[in-house]
Amino acid sequence: MNKIGDELIRWYRENKRDLPWRRVHDPYEIWISEVVLQQTRVTQGITYYHNFLKKFPNIFTLAEAETEEVYKIWQGLGYYSRARNLHQAAKFIVEKYAGSFPDEYAKLLEIKGVGHYIAAAIASIAFAQPYPAIDGNAYRLFTRLFGIELKLGSSALKKEVLRIVSGIIPQKSPGDFNQAVMDFASIVCTPKSPDCINCPLSGYCFALSNNRQTDFPVKPLKRKPKDRFINYYLFSDGKKLLIRKRKSGDIWENLYDFPNTESSNAEQPRFYDLVSENHPCGYTVKFVSEIIRHQLTHQTLFVTFSEIGCNILPKIEDFHAESLKHLGNLPWPRLITRYLEKRDKEQSTANY
Ligand code: SF4
Repeated sequence: MNKIGDELIRWYRENKRDLPWRRVHDPYEIWISEVVLQQTRVTQGITYYHNFLKKFPNIFTLAEAETEEVYKIWQGLGYYSRARNLHQAAKFIVEKYAGSFPDEYAKLLEIKGVGHYIAAAIASIAFAQPYPAIDGNAYRLFTRLFGIELKLGSSALKKEVLRIVSGIIPQKSPGDFNQAVMDFASIVCTPKSPDCINCPLSGYCFALSNNRQTDFPVKPLKRKPKDRFINYYLFSDGKKLLIRKRKSGDIWENLYDFPNTESSNAEQPRFYDLVSENHPCGYTVKFVSEIIRHQLTHQTLFVTFSEIGCNILPKIEDFHAESLKHLGNLPWPRLITRYLEKRDKEQSTANY
């Protein structure tokens, strides 16, 4: 089995990707890179990694930051619970460990948002401890190599792959081994067209010898994303807009949005459901956008934006008036940022 580990490390030393976090052993920087890369492509992740470290160069600056500053840097990356966890975890590490990352795997797992994968990445790369970092790429590689028919996401598969990889990971250079698995699976043992002809592990591979590369990993049945129809209303008196910070229990926690109505099918926007008919504000519907489709992992959103002019802003529970000038400083879901940017552009062209 250790021949597999040796081959992977040999391949890695000749072919590794030149990524900024490959040049560091500082646990803080490794942690940030791993959290950024969860659910994010490497090319997009590099920009966010640099921006994040520029704004928060160490754990103390992150712990002392305002929540909104952290969300603002994260804006556009999605999965905002990651930003919230990073912030809370930084405070925890400063309070409990005076800002030094613990070097024990079990203690790393106590940090908010740090699961087995990130704990193993930090333990192996920063502290040279042989804990296997097993992500989706690793599951693909090892299920193919060993012909493991257990379903992705099942605890039986997690246990089996952990057992196998724990027997392969070297005591020396475990960080290189974990990074080798990441790069090898991304470059050679790819999801759709693995490069089996040039693969240094071809002599050990169950999937290749049975011509079953695309049968692994075994995927669970997919859930159909839920459709949601949301109509946003930008109530404005020309100086201010009504906005709110979203609460927990739904998408986009702690990001900002506008008053809205939601239904289970496409309907005409109905802003008057939100406001009192007797309100003396003189509403004017100035614009209603086309329906915009926005895909999230488990939800498909169909969204419209309506611009509602009024003399006096209506009172709507949870919403407050915010100056138009300050909107750009707040963290918004990417869908709304795009709309606001387009709106700004059109308004500046119209005023020109
Ligand atoms: S032989 Fe093909 S399927 Fe097997 S590990 Fe190599 S690239 Fe992956």
